[in-house]
Amino acid sequence: MSVPCRAANDDDPDAAFLDDVRRFLAEALTPDLREAGRRTLGVHSDIEACRIWHRRLYQRGWIAPGWPVAHGGTGWTARQRFLFDRECALNDAPVLFAGGIRSLGPLLIEMGTAVQQARFLPGILSGEDLWAQGFSEPGAGSDLARVATRAERQGEHYLVDGSKIWTTGAHLANRMFALVRTAMGDKPQRGLTFLLIDMPSPGLTVSPIITIDGEHELNAVFFDQVRVPVANRIGEEGQGWGVAKRLMQLARSNNTPSALVRRVYQRARAAALAAGDLEPGLRARLVAAEVELTAFEQTELALLPGGRLREGDNTSPSVLKLIGSELHQRVAELAMEIAGTTRGGALEPFREEAGLLADGARATAKHFATRAASIYSGSSETQRNVIFQALQAAG
Ligand SMILES: Cc1cc2nc3c(=O)[nH]c(=O)nc-3n(C[C@H](O)[C@H](O)[C@H](O)COP(=O)(O)OP(=O)(O)OC[C@H]3O[C@@H](n4cnc5c(N)ncnc54)[C@H](O)[C@@H]3O)c2cc1C
Repeated sequence: MSVPCRAANDDDPDAAFLDDVRRFLAEALTPDLREAGRRTLGVHSDIEACRIWHRRLYQRGWIAPGWPVAHGGTGWTARQRFLFDRECALNDAPVLFAGGIRSLGPLLIEMGTAVQQARFLPGILSGEDLWAQGFSEPGAGSDLARVATRAERQGEHYLVDGSKIWTTGAHLANRMFALVRTAMGDKPQRGLTFLLIDMPSPGLTVSPIITIDGEHELNAVFFDQVRVPVANRIGEEGQGWGVAKRLMQLARSNNTPSALVRRVYQRARAAALAAGDLEPGLRARLVAAEVELTAFEQTELALLPGGRLREGDNTSPSVLKLIGSELHQRVAELAMEIAGTTRGGALEPFREEAGLLADGARATAKHFATRAASIYSGSSETQRNVIFQALQAAG
């Protein structure tokens, strides 16, 4: 099969670029970092490996390829960005804890003041600041506008009371961007405000939630009179819905990039090669996965010209999130089924072997972890609703 973006050769205009990337990865990706990349179950790798890998990319100037050059981006073309992500995946680079790089940084560049950009962007780029997303609440998930966590203004501060749930990495992050309620409006979308909150603030507590794969990535976060400076507000008071919607579009546009799916596909393919004579049904599904993944890669390139979301493009993020997360699930399930025919498979899901899960057991845990992909960052139903509304509006 011809896969246009697969490899560099002498005619490839990006051959020198790719050589450069490969040289860098060969040197910077130590065996322990590659191992951390391979062992990733949830949305990011082991946090220490993330920190080291983040620093190396930052020092090389490659931590934020999707940002404008003026703010620390690389100036790469969309294809170069794609090739870079793909090489990282093929070489088992750690998956970064990257809410700052992927969502909040681009939002600040679009909607933050110059003072906020100067204050927060450097910490995102260097990796000193890790950002959690505080949107969901027990009564506000798909229907996010039902957010009830209150923020009451007192002089130059807000006092925040309430709770957030399903907060990925709240126990690791030192900062959080959050949607809070500053007033009751005639519609739930009115009276919401977007704040940046320091996690070590007095009155803020984090409580772990352990998921079905046995991992601790999620948390509940409680606020008891937490003081947040007014200077940490993005946009106007009461206008947080528009800010949060844009944040979600930026997040969804790269929530499940093709490179992430390529990682799991690579595992499935390796397991298939190890299994030797693969059952025909599995063989057919492996081929179908390669075809779908290649199509997804091309879709990504088409919908993210310049490697990032076009202004005013409200639909592509949902298209990319929907295709990416559901394909991710199918490939993770396939990887589990193929690995299950080799060793340590689904029948002994969490067996530890010399400190490592056996291949099949790891594939099972990965399958469980990936079930969440069609829920987080907005469920598949939510993405379908957004796309349908766009189709209706287009007539
Ligand atoms: C692993 C993981 C990580 C997460 N990380 C974060 C995070 O870091 N920060 C954060 O703020 N949140 C996070 N979330 C929360 C996530 O965004 C919500 O779980 C999600 O938006 C769904 O909300 P809910 O769980 O309240 O389900 P509900 O909204 O109650 O939905 C339940 C079911 O009903 C369906 N449904 C709801 N409304 C409609 C509708 N109008 N039409 C059709 N179907 C509908 C949904 O698709 C779903 O299947 C995370 C979730 C998971 C699983």
